Amino acid sequence: MEQNYDIIIIGGGLLGCATAYQLSKRIAGKILLLDGNEIASQASARAACLLTRARTKPALMELVQETYDCIKEIEVLLDESLELQQCGSVTIASSDSSLKGLDALEEAATRFGIPNERISRERVKELLPWIESDSVDVALYMPTDAFIDSALLCSGYARAAAKLGVELKPNCKVKEIIVEQDEIRGVSLVNGERLNAPIVVNAAGSWANLLMRPLKVGLPFTPVRSHFWITDIDNKRFPAGHPFTVIPDARAFTRSDVGALIIGLRESQCQAFDPSTMTDKLEDFDFNKAAKWTVLDECAPLLKRYLKDIDDLPIAHYMAGPSCYVPDAMFIIGAIKRYKGLFTVTGCCGGGVAAGGGMGRLAAELITGVTPFVNAALFAPERFGEIDPFCVEFQKRCADARSNKKGG
Ligand SMILES: Cc1cc2nc3c(=O)[nH]c(=O)nc-3n(C[C@H](O)[C@H](O)[C@H](O)COP(=O)(O)OP(=O)(O)OC[C@H]3O[C@@H](n4cnc5c(N)ncnc54)[C@H](O)[C@@H]3O)c2cc1C
Repeated sequence: MEQNYDIIIIGGGLLGCATAYQLSKRIAGKILLLDGNEIASQASARAACLLTRARTKPALMELVQETYDCIKEIEVLLDESLELQQCGSVTIASSDSSLKGLDALEEAATRFGIPNERISRERVKELLPWIESDSVDVALYMPTDAFIDSALLCSGYARAAAKLGVELKPNCKVKEIIVEQDEIRGVSLVNGERLNAPIVVNAAGSWANLLMRPLKVGLPFTPVRSHFWITDIDNKRFPAGHPFTVIPDARAFTRSDVGALIIGLRESQCQAFDPSTMTDKLEDFDFNKAAKWTVLDECAPLLKRYLKDIDDLPIAHYMAGPSCYVPDAMFIIGAIKRYKGLFTVTGCCGGGVAAGGGMGRLAAELITGVTPFVNAALFAPERFGEIDPFCVEFQKRCADARSNKKGG
């Protein structure tokens, strides 16, 4: 049996669900969202959940602001809290290069109207009881930064979209995007069903290139390992809800949650994965098979300056997942011009929690033909020309984008 839709979205992670929500707000017709797994169960359930507002690129700040706006709207629409925690953030600089970065961030935040202030070492210690404040040269406090449970946010977008009429079908894996004479016709499912639509949005995260491969389209990203460690609970030292930190000199960020400290470390050579090696479910994928925990050897000594006893801190959990990195560290949003009706929203560059609402809005505006609220050319899927995401050299370029990342 065949069914007809106006738009089919593949992928029920943050980017697919945010796009579904933004499309449904614009009354874009009969919309179906499909996921091969449960909704909000893959990368979007593994994030460190930071909603960092300040970015040196203005368009990214617009996208993040849209996420904050979506959260407010969805809370009203669903009449429930999405539990945004406005804890603030502290960016720390203790070298010339990180100070330059902090200056640029401060200027960008001020220009965009994001509250920020430089704070003294004493104030740093008050806000972050665990930190060796003598090691902090300059600290920039942004009190309106927040974090949010990424799976709850994702399910919030999905449930809001459903309330506005989008049909959600979890556990429905797409086998193929169907094209005839260079025009999109719909998708086929692994169970043999065919679903028709003139527009298909590929929001399949780390798997997006597997669906593009038969169409000979290469999206310019590869999955790269992101990860963090969570200490045992110590309420006195890591009080819940204190500001998250970004410490570029230690290639680290931290956040406190339920009295434990989350420590994210970014190695100088990040691990890229060939998309064709990704398993259908992330729980079946070994993120440490190729690259072991050498990241701790490299980064823990850098963080020791700020967190003296890091070597002895009891670690209760480790979380790893894929983030889709692009060589220029900008997202991939828009039409694939070669095929009428084919769109994508992916290449999250580790920022889909923070920017997902805005990414979904830009995708929805491009699909419905509305003037985009940001410069869409910055995110054009074909801006690198023809690339092969299955080639090791290209994957290395993507991993370098994460290795060079300085922000939260
Ligand atoms: C460890 C870690 C920490 C992070 N921390 C942060 C942070 O602090 N702040 C931040 O902003 N971002 C963070 N991120 C990034 C954030 O998690 C991602 O940007 C976001 O989850 C990407 O969403 P997505 O929809 O692209 O991917 P996913 O959530 O993976 O969704 C893609 C979906 O597509 C489905 N799919 C794939 N193939 C098919 C198919 N053939 N048919 C049907 N469905 C299919 C999958 O089942 C999946 O559910 C972090 C990521 C990781 C891994």
